[in-house]
Amino acid sequence: MARAIIFKLLLISLAIGCIWMINRNITKQPNQLNNKKIIFSFFGAPGSGKGTLAEQCVKNLEYQTLSTGNLCRKHIAKDTKIGKTIKTFTSQGKLVPDEVIIEMVTTWLKEKSNTNKPIILDGFPRTKTQAEMLNKILKNEMPEYDFRIIRLVIPKEEIVERLVNRIVCENKKCQAVYNTSMPEAKSGICPKCGSKLIKREDDTKEVIEKRFEVYQENENKILNFYRSIGQKIEEINISKLSPKEVFENFKNII
Ligand code: AMP
Repeated sequence: MARAIIFKLLLISLAIGCIWMINRNITKQPNQLNNKKIIFSFFGAPGSGKGTLAEQCVKNLEYQTLSTGNLCRKHIAKDTKIGKTIKTFTSQGKLVPDEVIIEMVTTWLKEKSNTNKPIILDGFPRTKTQAEMLNKILKNEMPEYDFRIIRLVIPKEEIVERLVNRIVCENKKCQAVYNTSMPEAKSGICPKCGSKLIKREDDTKEVIEKRFEVYQENENKILNFYRSIGQKIEEINISKLSPKEVFENFKNII
Protein backbone atom coordinates (compact mmCIF):
# COMPACT_ATOMS: atom_id res chain seq x y z
CA MET A 1 0.00 0.00 0.00
CA ALA A 2 2.73 2.46 1.09
CA ARG A 3 4.78 1.45 -1.95
CA ALA A 4 1.87 2.16 -4.26
CA ILE A 5 1.44 5.65 -2.73
CA ILE A 6 5.17 6.41 -3.08
CA PHE A 7 5.08 5.18 -6.69
CA LYS A 8 2.07 7.43 -7.45
CA LEU A 9 3.78 10.40 -5.81
CA LEU A 10 6.87 9.77 -7.89
CA LEU A 11 4.79 9.62 -11.07
CA ILE A 12 2.99 12.86 -10.16
CA SER A 13 6.31 14.68 -9.45
CA LEU A 14 7.72 13.36 -12.72
CA ALA A 15 4.68 14.67 -14.61
CA ILE A 16 4.90 18.06 -12.87
CA GLY A 17 8.62 18.21 -13.72
CA CYS A 18 7.94 17.46 -17.40
CA ILE A 19 5.18 20.09 -17.63
CA TRP A 20 7.47 22.66 -15.98
CA MET A 21 10.32 21.92 -18.43
CA ILE A 22 8.02 22.11 -21.49
CA ASN A 23 6.46 25.35 -20.25
CA ARG A 24 9.88 26.88 -19.57
CA ASN A 25 11.07 26.21 -23.11
CA ILE A 26 7.86 27.49 -24.68
CA THR A 27 7.95 30.79 -22.79
CA LYS A 28 11.65 31.37 -23.47
CA GLN A 29 12.73 33.78 -26.19
CA PRO A 30 13.90 31.75 -29.24
CA ASN A 31 17.35 33.27 -28.86
CA GLN A 32 17.71 32.14 -25.26
CA LEU A 33 17.34 28.42 -25.92
CA ASN A 34 20.24 26.34 -24.55
CA ASN A 35 20.82 29.11 -21.99
CA LYS A 36 23.12 30.86 -24.43
CA LYS A 37 23.14 34.61 -24.47
CA ILE A 38 23.41 36.18 -27.89
CA ILE A 39 25.33 38.93 -29.66
CA PHE A 40 24.38 39.97 -33.17
CA SER A 41 26.62 42.00 -35.38
CA PHE A 42 24.71 43.85 -38.09
CA PHE A 43 26.68 44.21 -41.31
CA GLY A 44 25.61 46.46 -44.15
CA ALA A 45 26.85 49.50 -46.03
CA PRO A 46 26.25 52.95 -44.49
CA GLY A 47 22.58 53.72 -45.05
CA SER A 48 21.49 50.09 -45.41
CA GLY A 49 19.23 50.47 -42.37
CA LYS A 50 21.23 48.64 -39.69
CA GLY A 51 20.37 51.34 -37.15
CA THR A 52 16.66 51.30 -38.02
CA LEU A 53 16.53 47.52 -37.67
CA ALA A 54 18.41 47.68 -34.36
CA GLU A 55 15.97 50.32 -33.12
CA GLN A 56 13.01 48.04 -33.89
CA CYS A 57 14.70 45.17 -32.03
CA VAL A 58 15.18 47.41 -29.00
CA LYS A 59 11.57 48.61 -29.10
CA ASN A 60 9.82 45.31 -29.84
CA LEU A 61 12.16 42.57 -28.62
CA GLU A 62 13.91 44.30 -25.71
CA TYR A 63 17.35 44.00 -27.24
CA GLN A 64 20.15 46.40 -26.40
CA THR A 65 22.23 47.98 -29.12
CA LEU A 66 25.52 49.74 -29.54
CA SER A 67 25.98 51.91 -32.62
CA THR A 68 29.64 52.84 -32.90
CA GLY A 69 28.64 55.65 -35.30
CA ASN A 70 26.26 57.12 -32.69
CA LEU A 71 28.91 56.78 -30.03
CA CYS A 72 31.37 58.67 -32.24
CA ARG A 73 28.82 61.46 -32.83
CA LYS A 74 28.13 61.74 -29.08
CA HIS A 75 31.84 62.28 -28.44
CA ILE A 76 32.03 64.86 -31.23
CA ALA A 77 29.01 66.73 -29.82
CA LYS A 78 30.60 66.85 -26.36
CA ASP A 79 33.72 68.28 -28.02
CA THR A 80 35.95 66.09 -25.84
CA LYS A 81 39.60 65.43 -26.71
CA ILE A 82 38.64 62.06 -28.15
CA GLY A 83 35.69 63.72 -29.93
CA LYS A 84 38.05 66.13 -31.71
CA THR A 85 40.23 63.24 -32.89
CA ILE A 86 37.19 61.28 -34.06
CA LYS A 87 35.86 64.25 -36.05
CA THR A 88 39.00 64.50 -38.17
CA PHE A 89 38.19 61.02 -39.51
CA THR A 90 34.38 60.97 -39.69
CA SER A 91 34.21 64.29 -41.54
CA GLN A 92 36.24 62.79 -44.39
CA GLY A 93 34.33 59.50 -44.48
CA LYS A 94 37.36 57.67 -43.10
CA LEU A 95 37.29 55.08 -40.35
CA VAL A 96 38.24 56.08 -36.82
CA PRO A 97 41.45 54.29 -35.70
CA ASP A 98 40.90 50.77 -34.36
CA GLU A 99 42.37 51.42 -30.91
CA VAL A 100 39.90 54.28 -30.27
CA ILE A 101 36.86 52.24 -31.35
CA ILE A 102 37.99 49.03 -29.63
CA GLU A 103 38.44 50.84 -26.30
CA MET A 104 34.91 52.30 -26.53
CA VAL A 105 33.30 48.98 -27.50
CA THR A 106 35.14 46.92 -24.87
CA THR A 107 34.04 49.29 -22.09
CA TRP A 108 30.43 49.16 -23.31
CA LEU A 109 30.38 45.36 -23.66
CA LYS A 110 31.71 44.83 -20.16
CA GLU A 111 28.95 47.01 -18.74
CA LYS A 112 26.15 45.36 -20.72
CA SER A 113 27.08 41.70 -20.57
CA ASN A 114 25.72 41.27 -17.04
CA THR A 115 22.12 41.36 -18.34
CA ASN A 116 20.37 38.62 -20.31
CA LYS A 117 19.18 40.93 -23.07
CA PRO A 118 20.45 40.06 -26.56
CA ILE A 119 23.06 42.54 -27.78
CA ILE A 120 23.31 44.14 -31.21
CA LEU A 121 26.55 45.64 -32.46
CA ASP A 122 25.54 48.10 -35.15
CA GLY A 123 28.53 49.08 -37.29
CA PHE A 124 31.06 46.95 -35.43
CA PRO A 125 33.38 45.27 -36.35
CA ARG A 126 34.30 47.41 -39.33
CA THR A 127 37.89 46.23 -39.88
CA LYS A 128 39.64 42.87 -39.72
CA THR A 129 41.53 44.00 -36.58
CA GLN A 130 38.25 44.86 -34.86
CA ALA A 131 36.81 41.47 -35.89
CA GLU A 132 39.82 39.61 -34.51
CA MET A 133 39.64 41.57 -31.26
CA LEU A 134 35.92 40.87 -30.87
CA ASN A 135 36.51 37.18 -31.53
CA LYS A 136 39.13 37.11 -28.78
CA ILE A 137 36.86 38.86 -26.25
CA LEU A 138 33.95 36.55 -27.05
CA LYS A 139 36.10 33.46 -26.67
CA ASN A 140 38.00 34.46 -23.55
CA GLU A 141 35.71 36.77 -21.62
CA MET A 142 32.18 36.09 -22.85
CA PRO A 143 32.01 32.35 -23.66
CA GLU A 144 28.35 32.23 -22.62
CA TYR A 145 27.44 34.22 -25.77
CA ASP A 146 26.50 32.91 -29.22
CA PHE A 147 27.70 35.23 -31.98
CA ARG A 148 25.59 35.75 -35.11
CA ILE A 149 26.31 37.93 -38.12
CA ILE A 150 23.32 39.40 -39.95
CA ARG A 151 24.28 41.02 -43.25
CA LEU A 152 21.89 43.44 -44.95
CA VAL A 153 22.43 43.32 -48.71
CA ILE A 154 21.48 46.29 -50.92
CA PRO A 155 22.78 47.77 -54.24
CA LYS A 156 24.99 50.89 -54.11
CA GLU A 157 22.56 53.07 -56.14
CA GLU A 158 19.82 52.52 -53.56
CA ILE A 159 22.24 53.43 -50.77
CA VAL A 160 23.27 56.74 -52.35
CA GLU A 161 19.61 57.62 -52.98
CA ARG A 162 18.72 56.83 -49.36
CA LEU A 163 21.60 58.75 -47.81
CA VAL A 164 21.21 61.86 -49.92
CA ASN A 165 17.62 62.07 -48.64
CA ARG A 166 18.37 61.05 -45.05
CA ILE A 167 17.71 63.46 -42.18
CA VAL A 168 18.47 62.78 -38.54
CA CYS A 169 17.53 64.21 -35.17
CA GLU A 170 20.19 66.66 -34.00
CA ASN A 171 19.65 65.62 -30.36
CA LYS A 172 22.61 63.30 -29.73
CA LYS A 173 20.62 61.36 -27.11
CA CYS A 174 17.96 60.59 -29.77
CA GLN A 175 19.65 60.46 -33.20
CA ALA A 176 16.43 59.12 -34.79
CA VAL A 177 16.68 58.63 -38.55
CA TYR A 178 14.15 59.72 -41.21
CA ASN A 179 13.90 60.28 -44.94
CA THR A 180 12.82 63.60 -46.47
CA SER A 181 9.87 61.82 -48.10
CA MET A 182 8.43 60.58 -44.78
CA PRO A 183 5.27 62.52 -43.81
CA GLU A 184 6.27 62.54 -40.11
CA ALA A 185 9.56 64.27 -41.00
CA LYS A 186 8.07 66.99 -43.23
CA SER A 187 7.84 69.55 -40.39
CA GLY A 188 11.60 69.33 -39.82
CA ILE A 189 10.96 68.49 -36.14
CA CYS A 190 11.72 65.07 -34.65
CA PRO A 191 8.41 63.34 -33.81
CA LYS A 192 10.15 61.44 -31.01
CA CYS A 193 11.81 64.22 -29.00
CA GLY A 194 10.86 67.55 -30.62
CA SER A 195 14.42 68.52 -31.61
CA LYS A 196 15.43 69.80 -35.04
CA LEU A 197 15.96 67.36 -37.93
CA ILE A 198 19.19 68.00 -39.80
CA LYS A 199 21.36 66.48 -42.53
CA ARG A 200 24.35 64.58 -41.21
CA GLU A 201 27.65 66.29 -42.07
CA ASP A 202 28.92 63.13 -43.74
CA ASP A 203 25.77 62.58 -45.84
CA THR A 204 27.02 64.55 -48.84
CA LYS A 205 27.32 62.70 -52.15
CA GLU A 206 31.12 62.96 -52.11
CA VAL A 207 31.54 61.62 -48.57
CA ILE A 208 28.86 58.95 -49.12
CA GLU A 209 30.78 57.56 -52.13
CA LYS A 210 33.97 57.51 -50.07
CA ARG A 211 32.27 55.79 -47.11
CA PHE A 212 30.78 53.16 -49.42
CA GLU A 213 34.17 52.47 -50.98
CA VAL A 214 35.87 52.20 -47.55
CA TYR A 215 33.03 50.00 -46.30
CA GLN A 216 33.22 47.50 -49.16
CA GLU A 217 36.97 47.19 -49.00
CA ASN A 218 36.86 46.39 -45.30
CA GLU A 219 33.75 44.22 -45.45
CA ASN A 220 35.41 41.80 -47.85
CA LYS A 221 38.40 41.40 -45.51
CA ILE A 222 36.19 40.91 -42.45
CA LEU A 223 33.91 38.40 -44.16
CA ASN A 224 36.96 36.44 -45.36
CA PHE A 225 38.24 36.38 -41.79
CA TYR A 226 34.91 35.08 -40.50
CA ARG A 227 34.67 32.47 -43.26
CA SER A 228 38.19 31.29 -42.37
CA ILE A 229 37.11 30.57 -38.78
CA GLY A 230 33.85 28.90 -39.89
CA GLN A 231 31.53 31.68 -38.71
CA LYS A 232 28.13 31.58 -40.42
CA ILE A 233 27.01 34.78 -42.19
CA GLU A 234 23.24 35.18 -42.46
CA GLU A 235 22.02 37.51 -45.23
CA ILE A 236 18.82 39.46 -45.75
CA ASN A 237 18.26 41.00 -49.18
CA ILE A 238 16.70 44.34 -48.28
CA SER A 239 16.48 45.97 -51.69
CA LYS A 240 13.17 47.88 -51.97
CA LEU A 241 11.96 46.58 -48.59
CA SER A 242 10.35 48.86 -46.03
CA PRO A 243 11.82 48.95 -42.48
CA LYS A 244 8.83 46.90 -41.30
CA GLU A 245 9.48 44.23 -43.94
CA VAL A 246 13.18 44.09 -43.02
CA PHE A 247 12.19 43.58 -39.37
CA GLU A 248 9.78 40.76 -40.34
CA ASN A 249 12.57 39.07 -42.33
CA PHE A 250 14.89 39.40 -39.35
CA LYS A 251 12.35 37.86 -36.97
CA ASN A 252 11.91 34.95 -39.38
CA ILE A 253 15.58 34.03 -39.25
CA ILE A 254 16.26 34.36 -35.51
P1 AMP B 1 27.87 55.21 -39.19
O1 AMP B 1 26.90 56.07 -38.46
O2 AMP B 1 27.85 53.77 -38.74
O3 AMP B 1 27.76 55.37 -40.69
O4 AMP B 1 29.34 55.75 -38.78
C1 AMP B 1 29.73 57.10 -39.03
C2 AMP B 1 31.23 57.20 -38.98
O5 AMP B 1 31.71 56.84 -37.67
C3 AMP B 1 31.98 56.28 -39.93
O6 AMP B 1 32.06 56.84 -41.25
C4 AMP B 1 33.33 56.20 -39.25
O7 AMP B 1 34.09 57.36 -39.46
C5 AMP B 1 32.95 56.16 -37.77
N1 AMP B 1 32.78 54.76 -37.30
C6 AMP B 1 31.62 54.17 -36.90
N2 AMP B 1 31.82 52.89 -36.53
C7 AMP B 1 33.15 52.67 -36.71
C8 AMP B 1 34.00 51.52 -36.51
N3 AMP B 1 33.51 50.35 -36.05
N4 AMP B 1 35.33 51.67 -36.80
C9 AMP B 1 35.83 52.83 -37.24
N5 AMP B 1 35.09 53.93 -37.46
C10 AMP B 1 33.76 53.86 -37.19
